[in-house]
Amino acid sequence: MNPSTQPVDQPPPRKTTLYCFNCGHESTVDGDWEIRKYGRCADYDCPECKTTITTRPRTSDTLTAGNGVSCYCSGD
Ligand SMILES: [Zn+2]
Repeated sequence: MNPSTQPVDQPPPRKTTLYCFNCGHESTVDGDWEIRKYGRCADYDCPECKTTITTRPRTSDTLTAGNGVSCYCSGD
């Protein structure tokens, strides 16, 4: 008997859901997007229509806030 213990509905941590504006495909950021990493950024491509949905900074890197807001691939 554990009167003080009751099941608590803990919602799973919300993950950002990305939507393809071209074909409507949707998935979480760590879903089935095709991620192309380059430099300090990563492109998220739709697995269905190959549209680049978004470009996000790679979280593994420590980016200086306010220094270069936009991801820019300068190429080599
Ligand atoms: Zn798509």
